[in-house]
Parts: sequence; C-alpha cells; structure tokens
Amino acid sequence: MMRMTVLASGSKGNSTVISSSRTRVLVDAGLSCRELLKRMSYAGEDPAQLNAILITHEHQDHIAGLSVLARRLNIPVFFTEPTHRAWVRMLTPRTTMTYAKWLDHVRREKEARAAAVAASAPNSDLAGQLAEESRIIAGIAAEAAALSHSDARSDDPNTSPELPVDPEEEDLCAPESQTAAAQKPDPTYLPAVEYFHSGTRFSIGDIDITPFTIPHDAADPCGFVFESEGIRMALATDLGYMPPNVKSALKRIDVLLLESNHDLEMLRDGPYPWSVKQRVLSRVGHLSNHATAEFLQKDYDGGASWIVLGHLSESNNAPELARLSAEQALGNQPTLLGNRVLLAHQCTPLDPITL
Ligand SMILES: [Zn+2]
Ligand SMILES: [Zn+2]
Repeated sequence: MMRMTVLASGSKGNSTVISSSRTRVLVDAGLSCRELLKRMSYAGEDPAQLNAILITHEHQDHIAGLSVLARRLNIPVFFTEPTHRAWVRMLTPRTTMTYAKWLDHVRREKEARAAAVAASAPNSDLAGQLAEESRIIAGIAAEAAALSHSDARSDDPNTSPELPVDPEEEDLCAPESQTAAAQKPDPTYLPAVEYFHSGTRFSIGDIDITPFTIPHDAADPCGFVFESEGIRMALATDLGYMPPNVKSALKRIDVLLLESNHDLEMLRDGPYPWSVKQRVLSRVGHLSNHATAEFLQKDYDGGASWIVLGHLSESNNAPELARLSAEQALGNQPTLLGNRVLLAHQCTPLDPITL
C-alpha cells in the first residue's frame, strides 16, 4: 500500500504526506506548524506517526513551518547539504554574502567535487552524474545571478522576504516538555539532520527514495521518487523545464504530482512585475501548462493511475486551463488507461490517493 496526501500546493505553501503501510514521511513544510497539523488531522493523517521530513529546496513556500514542526514532532529532517546550509543562512541574520554570491559559491564547491571525482575515477557513473549535476547547478547559479532578485525569497513575490517564526506559533507548537523559562530557541535548531545526494537512492523505513536534481533557482533543488511494495509515487514541482534526468526519473510512476504553474498568456498579461515574470519563465523558474502538456504528450510513458497537477499559480493560471491542457495532451494518446487528472489546491488538502 502507498498513499499520497497533498496538504497544500502552490506559491503560498507546499506539503505532501507519503505513506507506506509502515512508514510515513512529509515532503516539505511550507505552511505554519499549526496549519500543517490542522491539515494533517483534517486529511486523516496522524502527525504523531510521521517518521521524517524531507525538503526539496529552501524557498519559503517549502520550509515556512519546518523548524517548529520538526521540533514539535521530534523527528529528523532530510536535506541535501547545500540546501541545509542555504536554509540555515536564510534564518541567520544577514552576513556579508548575497544570495547570488552564495549560489555561485555552492557552484564552485560542486565543480571542485566533480573535478576531484573525475580525476580519481574518470569513467565512473558518479563522475558523470556529478558533472551533470554541476552543469545544472552552474546554470541555476548563472541565471539566478542574472535575474538578481532579492536575498531571501519565495515563489510568491508578495510574501515578506524575511522568514518569520511567529512567537505565538512557536508557543502553540512547542513540545509540552518545554518550560516557559526556556530561552528563545535557535531558529535553525533541528532534532536531527540527515543528508542525501541527488541521484543516490536511500531508504526511510520501508520506503525507497530516489532524489533527482531539478532546474530551479535554489542551492540544490530536487524532486523525489518514492517506492514501496512495488508502487511508485513521484513529486516534481518547481522546475524551469524538463531536462533529460527528470524525464528519465519519471518512468514507471503510479501517482505523479507534477507542476503546471502558469498559463503563458495569463502570466504575460498578468500583474507580476517584469523581473518576476522573467524569473518564472526562465529555465530555473516554473513549468507552464504548455510545458507540462508537452512532457505528457511526448516524453511521459503513460503508466500512472493518477496525475496530480500542482503548484498552480493563483495569479497566472486557472485550474480549468491547467486541467484542459493536461487532459488534451493525454487525450492525444488514446491507448492510455488510468491517468486520471486531479488538481492540488493551495487552501485545502486533497483527498488521500491510495494504491
Ligand atoms: Zn521554489
Ligand atoms: Zn515552490
């Protein structure tokens, strides 16, 4: 048995529960702790049974409730190391480096690592994989620098750039054992941190997890494939385009949460400032309905029972446009079975999808 419960999807917060019969993980924690707990109980997911939290990238709409929730539930958080460091950096009072410089620094480190591996084992899979990763990260860093947006950000240009830990929130979500006399907690404190590498499979309980690199303007963003008892579920949102490594990661998937962020015309004519439009449209921004349809028609293997369209923009998309575009793309392959299309929402959890 596997189950996917999308608690929220969109630029104001993302979070999804993935369960097997024995294990339960939360992917991203982009709402307040209180709201995440509320939505879990509404959707019939017991927060006390979560084994871990996995983070795709450090943008605010994916991490807003992270530290408070992880402390409250006392469970480990899985990041890549660059994502963890970028997150710590966002929560730590301003240092000397801008975010763009920081991304550049991350890129150099990756290149050095790839070069070291290539020198010691020039033909290994790892060398090739690191070279590919480093190429993608270089692109991300270059575009992020070129777009030169603000230091801390989210996918929603209207949210405040600072990352708040609402004192009331901290209080409500504090573990019972914490006394009122406790000092102000370090916002970057987590009960436990585990690192994974994109492209390298790992397990939590009886769920096998394969993270894959996605092109997006964050330090080391990724999507995930989850597998248990022969069922495979995948999450791929926040990507500027569909590179070959993502296309090949999304094979033989039974439930696919896929980004369908914006309608190109609505974005073009919509309210965002030009710099933000440019960012969304860039190769490290978000997938349009059109790009998603193109993937579904040309590259998708057609094997999913459910396709969940997610991270829909509230300003630059309409649910029915996203649905129509995906259904038309799938309808052009009349041999397909299954492939029911659902839309994930920003304001309310989706009914659990169980296979
Ligand atoms: Zn993002
Ligand atoms: Zn996002």
